Parts: sequence; structure tokens; C-alpha cells
Amino acid sequence: MRVRPILYLLIVTLLFQLTHAYETERVVLVIVDGLRYSEGLGDEAHDYVPRMAEMADQGAIVGDFRNDGYTYTSRAIPAIWCGAWTDINSFSDPDCGGSPNNYTELPTVFEYYRRQLSRPAIDCVYTIKALCPWKASFHPEFGPDYWPLYHSVGSTDQDVWHETEQIIASQSPHFLLMYLADVDHAGHSGIWNDYLQAIVTADNIVGELWETIQANPDYQDKTTLLVTNDHGRHDYNFSGHGDNCDGCRHIQLLAIGPDIYPGLVSDIPRVIPDVAPTIGELLGFTTEYASGTAMMELIDEFVAIEPTSTRPVAELIVFPNPSNQGTNIDFMLPVSGDVDLRIYDLMGREVRNLLSASLEAGPNSFSWNGTDEDGRTLPSGTYLIRLETETSLLFWKMAIIK
Ligand SMILES: [Zn+2]
Ligand SMILES: [Zn+2]
Repeated sequence: MRVRPILYLLIVTLLFQLTHAYETERVVLVIVDGLRYSEGLGDEAHDYVPRMAEMADQGAIVGDFRNDGYTYTSRAIPAIWCGAWTDINSFSDPDCGGSPNNYTELPTVFEYYRRQLSRPAIDCVYTIKALCPWKASFHPEFGPDYWPLYHSVGSTDQDVWHETEQIIASQSPHFLLMYLADVDHAGHSGIWNDYLQAIVTADNIVGELWETIQANPDYQDKTTLLVTNDHGRHDYNFSGHGDNCDGCRHIQLLAIGPDIYPGLVSDIPRVIPDVAPTIGELLGFTTEYASGTAMMELIDEFVAIEPTSTRPVAELIVFPNPSNQGTNIDFMLPVSGDVDLRIYDLMGREVRNLLSASLEAGPNSFSWNGTDEDGRTLPSGTYLIRLETETSLLFWKMAIIK
């Protein structure tokens, strides 16, 4: 577990703002269809994904990321969008000449984003090769008014990338999903070298995408990029997928951006439905019909320090974080005086007052067992530790994951 001493100062005054105190203003999600983990970041030599491996050093990966439902595209991609395994329905799609097309039962991340943040479709783009893309939901609270702008052009991953590059330059959407289909198709061909070449191409595209993001003033240093898969491939035969084997289930989740722990390899198991809530957490919207939860452990727990005098601020260390119950809270007081230590939930409600006392300068250590004032165990989620001393007001985020 990594803990980090306080290295820098940042001023944020209102507790209510802290839920959205991320540097991230934009999110780009890339889905590489059917990339088996053993040829992706699960290959220690990173022979076919050198660029993603390099990015993983600056970002975070989930070591045990899984498709926990259906290991085929028509169900797994909607689970990524919806943050849940959702039913797929069919309708006669006027955008596709009235042909039957899929839509999701549950609302999608696009709909949550556009509705809650009042964003136009042009700010929420889905790039995919030329086909009739599956649609988001007709959910009564969401639906077509909040669907993304489907940009469906080209026939290869390279084409989709070039279209995406244009969209970044010309429209600069705050939320962008790029879907790359070729790895899965090459896998189904049964030609091993074609499959590997498709992975190398996708890896290069992800590397170029990150370079493009970092070279564009609208995106630079305020964009989180997530790269995942819908499913892997059989561990006994790369040309297929769709069952419960580890090759089909074990996939990758790479995250990189200003709020992501650099170099983290998280050992907390995660699943496909956790992607959409994580995007919501970063961009400031909720995914209320999702079954997944935000991957708070990938997000740097530092929230804010407000110095209240010119004297040195207190130092705070919280560990373990995340944990499955409570945590230890150690702090170093530079000067003697009044100290106030409380826990809040992300709605800004105080859930526990741990300490209000006058303490001597020096090290102090407290533990919190994850319960509220009445001794009730608090649910999984993110909590804020608030430490007020004579010289500073500190907020630190911690996650309880059962
Ligand atoms: Zn397939
Ligand atoms: Zn399989």
C-alpha cells in the first residue's frame, strides 16, 4: 500500500466542493475489443503493448480486472456503458433505415453525463467504425435526448483513430469513447500473427491518443484516459471467447490522468460495471442505476490542505487506504494547540467526531474502526477525514471497500 506525505499546498475552502475537487475535467474511454490479458498488460515483457506499459508506469492498473458477466461483445460493451449488466432490447432504428438494432434497458454513462451536467451531444462523442452503432437507452428519465453523438466512420481501427483525432481537434468533447474492433476480428480469424499485429496497432493508437491529449491545451493535464476491454479470449484457443475460462474473464483496466495514482498496481479486484461509476466520480455525475462502484483506490487520496497560518502545516498519514473497515490516522503536529479530527461522508455530513482536544506538538496516532457516532458500521464508500489544527485544515480521502 502506498502512502504519501504531504508534498504541496492547495486551497479549497468549501467541503461541498471537495466531491468535485478533481483536476480531471475530461474523460476519454477506449475499449479494445477482445484483447486477451496474456497478450496485453498481463504479459510481463509487454511485447505487444509497449506504449500502454509505459503509460501504466505513470498511471494505474487493476491487477485483477474481470468481465464478471457475459464474455461476448453484445452484452459486455453495454455493461461498460451502463455500469451494470443490462438487458438488451431491439427496436426498429430509423438511423439505420428501420433495421432492427439494440438498445440498453438501463441508462448509459452518456445519458447520465449529458443529463446531469446539461451537456450537448457534441460534447459527448462515441467513435466507432462505419456500422449502425448500438444505441443507449429509452429509459423514461433519460433516453434519446441524452444519447451521445455517434460518429461511425471508417473500416479499421486506424480509420477510427484518425476520425477521433479530428474530433478532439475540432470539437474537443469533454467525454469521448473510442471503440476499437480490430483485435477481436483478427483473433477470430485464427491467424496468430494478425491477432498480434492488431494488438500492436491498438497499442500505438492508445499511445498516440495520449500524446495528442497531452499536446492539446484543452485536454493537457486535465484529462483522464481509461483503457479497457469487453472480454478476453479463451486461454485454450485464442480464436474464440464467450465462456467462463480465465482467458475470457481476465481483462485490463489502465487509467492515467492528473488524479490517478502514478505507478499503482491495485490488488483490489474490480469488474466491468465499475468503469462507468468511476467516470461519474471523476466528472461529477452519479450513475444511480449502476451496480458497480467507483474505483476510488485508483484516485489519489489527497484532497486539500488549507494553511490557516504561516507556520508549518500538520502532516497526515492514513493507512491502510482503502481498507475493508477502519483505518489508522497518524499526524505530526508542528505546534501545540487545539486539534479537531472528524470524518465526513461525501455529501458533507459528519459521520464521526474522533477528537476535539488540546494536544502537544509531536506525533499522534488514532485509529478509526469504520463506525459512526452510534457504533454502526458505515457502508462501503468514500469518506473524508478532516483534521483541523492551529496551523492548518486538512482533508484526506479514504475508501472503505467491503
Ligand atoms: Zn468476438
Ligand atoms: Zn474462454
